[in-house]
Amino acid sequence: MASDDATAVSTATTIKGKCDLCAKPDGYGGHNLQKCKECGLLVHELCYATVPTECKNPNFTCHACKSVGTEVEVNVPSRVGGCKTGSHREMMKQETRPMECALCSVKSGIHAMHPLSDISGSEGRQLVLPATGAGFKRKEKRLAWVHTLCAQYICTTTGYIYGLFEGGGWEGQEDEEQSHNEEDEQNQEENHAQKYEIGTEVSKEFEEGWFDGKVTEYRYDEDEGEYLYAVLYEDGDKEDYNEKELEEILISRKEPHSSIFATESFCFLTGVDKKTGVDADKNVKEVRELKCTICNSNDSHSLRLPVQCMAYDPNEFKEFKKCHRKIKGVTKPECTLAVHVGCARWATKKFAGVKGKSLRMCYFYPGQKVRAWKVFGFLILYTLNAFYSFIIAWSPGWIRR
Ligand SMILES: [Zn+2]
Ligand SMILES: [Zn+2]
Ligand SMILES: [Zn+2]
Ligand SMILES: [Zn+2]
Ligand SMILES: [Zn+2]
Repeated sequence: MASDDATAVSTATTIKGKCDLCAKPDGYGGHNLQKCKECGLLVHELCYATVPTECKNPNFTCHACKSVGTEVEVNVPSRVGGCKTGSHREMMKQETRPMECALCSVKSGIHAMHPLSDISGSEGRQLVLPATGAGFKRKEKRLAWVHTLCAQYICTTTGYIYGLFEGGGWEGQEDEEQSHNEEDEQNQEENHAQKYEIGTEVSKEFEEGWFDGKVTEYRYDEDEGEYLYAVLYEDGDKEDYNEKELEEILISRKEPHSSIFATESFCFLTGVDKKTGVDADKNVKEVRELKCTICNSNDSHSLRLPVQCMAYDPNEFKEFKKCHRKIKGVTKPECTLAVHVGCARWATKKFAGVKGKSLRMCYFYPGQKVRAWKVFGFLILYTLNAFYSFIIAWSPGWIRR
């Protein structure tokens, strides 16, 4: 045993236990498990939407534990989708480890959590939940958190929730902004403003490894027909980049893998999409009219968001397809049962019976190594409905009745 060094090392560094999101052990599918030194939470890095590494971090602290005792700046008033007028900022303290999820009815237990932001972008801050109830049921206003599982599920299916990077940016932001600016582009030469100062630090991977550099010049290039930043690298090498290219190598992005960004918080999709005409607010409101079969709560005046059974959906993840019975000719989901993700996973001891086997109601697939917030995660939620005994996570943007 000791003769095999590689095995010895990997055994020594394997963490015992299962991931809070996918319930799989350390190393499953190549996913690295980390343990929170404060609360003992176990998460695969990618399941937790953090940048994957190759080693164990003895100082790993989950977002929830890290927040305890810290003060964060919040918008006043604090509202999903932000507040257009008259808002100011205020500091708010996180006194204890958050355990209440805004998206489901589970309010206890040590689970992976992420902050919930009021709006994306640089104006966004962590959402504040208003004080509710009276007497012993009284709850003071508090910072909003979501289970990473609940958020990841909705993020990878309906998209009514999406992940934000540090600073409030999001995946696809560049494309979106670019399309808004398309008309301006022709006039770019005349009124293009320099976005990054001389001295801005960059880092880029070349064949010989990573090299740091600095912006030394910003000028209009006749040949390229656009403004370029000149970068001088530490080895004396010089390269020119346009604004978009420069943004790819900015050191302020900090991440070791330039294409993977950790999700710092989640945010609700709001407003009307200009391209598709999809009204997110209206859709979310309709989804909240569904009732979770487990907690049975009324979601219409809450932030909770149920999901519907997706057995037999054409996009159903193939590993999960095997879990429920085949019905010839059925190619779309027919079951309308709704559940909160967290309720299906943690708030029920009930199991769904499929082919004589007991199955958990909720599964999460840790997925492949893709951009961290967009972890190719799938869940299956088994309902208690005997015939359509299965829910798969691929909700389209509409409700089946
Ligand atoms: Zn996992
Ligand atoms: Zn923790
Ligand atoms: Zn939840
Ligand atoms: Zn529920
Ligand atoms: Zn079902």
